[in-house]
Amino acid sequence: MEKNQILELQIEDLGTEGEGIGKADGYTVFIPGALPGEKVRALLVKAKKNYGYGKLLEILEPSSDRTEPLCPAAARCGGCQLQHMRYEGQLRYKQKKVQDCMERIGGFRDVVVQPVLGMEEPFHYRNKAQFPVGKGKDGIEMGFYAKHSHRIVKQDHCLLQHPVNQQILQILHDFMVEFQISAYEEETHRGLVRHVLTRVGTFTGEIMVCIIINGKKLPHQEVLVERLQQIEGMASIQLNINREQTNVILGKKNILLWGKPAICDTVDGILFEISPHSFYQVNPQQMQVLYRKALEAADLKGEETVLDLYCGIGTISLYLAQKAKRVFGVEIVPEAVENAKTNAAANGFTNAEFAAGAAEDVIPKLYTQGKISHADVVVVDPPRKGCDQILLETIVKLAPEKLVYVSCDPATLARDASYLRENGYQLESVQPVDMFPMTAHVETVVLLSKLNTKQHIEVELNLDELDLTDAEKKATYQEIKDYVLEHSGLKVSSLYIAQVKQ
Ligand code: SAH
Repeated sequence: MEKNQILELQIEDLGTEGEGIGKADGYTVFIPGALPGEKVRALLVKAKKNYGYGKLLEILEPSSDRTEPLCPAAARCGGCQLQHMRYEGQLRYKQKKVQDCMERIGGFRDVVVQPVLGMEEPFHYRNKAQFPVGKGKDGIEMGFYAKHSHRIVKQDHCLLQHPVNQQILQILHDFMVEFQISAYEEETHRGLVRHVLTRVGTFTGEIMVCIIINGKKLPHQEVLVERLQQIEGMASIQLNINREQTNVILGKKNILLWGKPAICDTVDGILFEISPHSFYQVNPQQMQVLYRKALEAADLKGEETVLDLYCGIGTISLYLAQKAKRVFGVEIVPEAVENAKTNAAANGFTNAEFAAGAAEDVIPKLYTQGKISHADVVVVDPPRKGCDQILLETIVKLAPEKLVYVSCDPATLARDASYLRENGYQLESVQPVDMFPMTAHVETVVLLSKLNTKQHIEVELNLDELDLTDAEKKATYQEIKDYVLEHSGLKVSSLYIAQVKQ
């Protein structure tokens, strides 16, 4: 295959970024915008030896999942990957994505992934936006980055964002024009205003605006503050200083210009304060669905010691503290830990404590020092890269009865769950939740429970040598599992293909 070749392809699947995966004579082509079941014509824009990337030219046979994107910028903007797919289709895709990861990466053969819990109104769900500010042909531009680039796509009416952002961007734009405030230029590292970060407390209506600048101060800032203050719900206006040549949006220092240093939101009746640097789930409605599932999985009776690792501002921790004896949260961002402590106190929790540091440092250290020797329930909610090996090893030593894994990346979830399975844990349930409609991302809550080693047996089989289809293999595993259960009374923790040497 060569670049610029035009191909006709049958789309078979969706990739991890929501792109269509097509095959032409055994050659794999990734085509953003194409859907499974479709026949398309595509231009090969990048050709590697075994795979390539295509640009969608024409849909010859559309999928029944295809729909017209509501946002005119959907195809260019890097924010949404799946607006061209009906929402039901998106949910099915995400369920399959989790299933595939658990099977292929995790080696789980008999896993049941529940249908994804989706939203009734899958738009305008985000409570946080980070708009890059730059200089374009027509002057100052604010919007979102285009796919795989730092070109700004102007965004006035983003369908995922809170409508108040339009007002904030307009005020900032007019202010910059009026006072000739420069926009940041990445190539030269010159210009002042880099980004604007906005946050809305969905259930309190409180709004935060944080202007990120490549400088020490913003000239005429009092005028901007005066104008932004007029917006109903405005609660915090801040500057953030970022003078580094970096892709990281926020610098270390915040300067409060007006209002409070953190805004508040409530989740199921618990009040949380959120600073600009703190992580807070971007979809508060689905956050409640997610946390309820995590709490349900933990199935607390009131006597448990619980660890909440990667705890952010202590949202899950305090959810669990309602039902547990004691909760200990660990989080790497110090500002978030401060929020967590304030949140515990403000809501009257005396059974929740927090420590700042990397979970993979703090927990092994406390274990070695003998300060923690056991936990009844461990909850982890790591970023996409998943948990460090040393943390997983320590969790196994702490021997919790239940481990609730909240994950934003099914691939690393499957990898970590597989390690836990090999170390005495059994997969009990897999529940994806759609936190990010219109994007290819999916959040999953998994419950693993500790096996009583006396009752458990691992069965290793090598069915690879036999000429069986995947479905036949699955059926064979199930039969053997049922047989072992019936005849030995033992619990089979895992059935997977092993490369058994003859
Ligand atoms: N459970 C929280 C936060 C989840 S997001 C909630 O639902 O709101 C993941 C969190 O892990 C972020 O707050 C991030 O700052 C934190 N984090 C990232 N790496 C970490 C590490 N190595 N150790 C501890 N926390 C970490």
